[in-house]
Amino acid sequence: MAASATVPAGQRPRVAIIGSGFSGLCLAIRLQQTGAASSFTLLEKGDRLGGTWRDNTYPGAACDLMSFAYCFSFEQKTDWTRKWSPQPEILAYMDHCAEKYGILPHVRFGTEVTGARFDAAAGVWRIQILVDGKPGREIEADVLVSGVGQLHRPVVPKIPGLDSFEGDWFHSAEWDHDVLLAGRRVGVVGNGASAIQFIPELAPRVEALEIFQRTPNWITPRGDRPYSDSERRRFARVPGLARLYRWLIWARQELLFSVMVGNRFFSERSKQLALENLHAHIRDPELRRALTPDYPIGGKRLLIHDDYYPALARDNVELVTSAIDHIEPREVVTVDGRRHPLDVLILGTGFDTNSFLAPMAIEGLAGRSLEQEWKTGAEAYLGLAVSGFPNLFLMYGPNTNLGHNSIIFMIECQANYIVKCLKRLSRRGLRYLDVREDVQRDFNRDLHRALARTAWAKTPKSWYKTEDGKITNNWSGTTTAYWWRTRRPDWDAFHHQAR
Ligand code: NAP
Repeated sequence: MAASATVPAGQRPRVAIIGSGFSGLCLAIRLQQTGAASSFTLLEKGDRLGGTWRDNTYPGAACDLMSFAYCFSFEQKTDWTRKWSPQPEILAYMDHCAEKYGILPHVRFGTEVTGARFDAAAGVWRIQILVDGKPGREIEADVLVSGVGQLHRPVVPKIPGLDSFEGDWFHSAEWDHDVLLAGRRVGVVGNGASAIQFIPELAPRVEALEIFQRTPNWITPRGDRPYSDSERRRFARVPGLARLYRWLIWARQELLFSVMVGNRFFSERSKQLALENLHAHIRDPELRRALTPDYPIGGKRLLIHDDYYPALARDNVELVTSAIDHIEPREVVTVDGRRHPLDVLILGTGFDTNSFLAPMAIEGLAGRSLEQEWKTGAEAYLGLAVSGFPNLFLMYGPNTNLGHNSIIFMIECQANYIVKCLKRLSRRGLRYLDVREDVQRDFNRDLHRALARTAWAKTPKSWYKTEDGKITNNWSGTTTAYWWRTRRPDWDAFHHQAR
């Protein structure tokens, strides 16, 4: 509590946080530790915390960053069971953090935020909610923080006839564990980070598996294995070992950024690794061709897995590269006229990543609508603040996603930045902080200049960009660069509104 305890509680802001995934949890812990808020509430539409790690329960769900780097720096977990932690273990870690830091009493479960309006005269956000699906009493907070991130609204593609499908179907982020898969004919639409994790789990259980691939991906080996008992004992007993290991993973991942900007040496080396991986498991030249991407490595999410290609090589698995034309009650029909009879269809089709806070209606100064401001693609200052929307902070917001390192690192930078802003509000007795429009514009001009040099810009389509090609999701540099930019707020970047 100490840091802000000198400022009377009445002068410290009340904070409302939307969501209780890694972002909301991290900020809540920081608020608990620093006392920078007089009170804080996490508004969570679900019935437990965990965000994407609560929702994605598909078989094989695991983190694609090594376990020791996928936890908070202030709460290093030392007893990970595997090099690449499975989803239940990550969710248990989040529960542990919430319990240890006393966060649960601050969470309002079953509470969905539908909109928020900034009342400039009072300097407060008025937040509209649904409680268990019904309109609830408006919530008032001095500061509103979005912790909804980029990967929480599953996309169901508009494939003609999907609704007429009489078999079972569901999205990978809403896995229906009651649907029987064993011995049935299963189709999977998509082959992204989620699909390549669950396909190897399904392949040995089902009668037949058809994977509808639109674009192949670059896939390098993961090298997953359990940690031995002696390794785990060593991590627990030797002070600093887990931290050193974490730092080494982070530093190695940081190098991977070179691939995102097309550095010839690192890109060629990664491509070679991916192609060797492909050739080691897939013998059929036709299939190899179908699985070889034609876009720059790193241009879409660089995937890692050991078992995806071996699964594709099985006799009961088929990669379908002809596009889906339409779906009939029992079949998927591809544009080459082939009919694919299926009992179950699984959509590994990703998330609505470009609309960020939508469908929440967020209204800032003078009735400005965030949806309108962002109609040509979301943008913010440092991914954290938007001009005209005072005392609104975003975590894992526009242009803060990575293709190479830990999002938790970015989230911690953002939580620390927000805490500093809250302290500024209290100490100066301000009504609000609002990032200057010219600062946000200049920041985005430089950001997009840097992004234009990346593999993402040279890749026609990905979830990192809008239909018009604006990269709204990714940060343009290393995590070190982001840390440097966010370690201390530049107060000149903000209008300070006195009470
Ligand atoms: P994704 O990467 O967006 O993949 C969606 C897949 O569905 C792509 O193969 C896409 O093809 C395909 N698709 C979409 N619409 C389609 C349509 N109408 N017809 C045919 N194919 C269609 O989604 P995701 O696999 O769920 O992964 C999303 C992100 O979540 C990842 O990139 C990663 O950042 C994160 N994630 C992380 C982990 C982790 O370990 N930490 C695990 C899973 C996911 P195109 O490529 O042609 O668009």
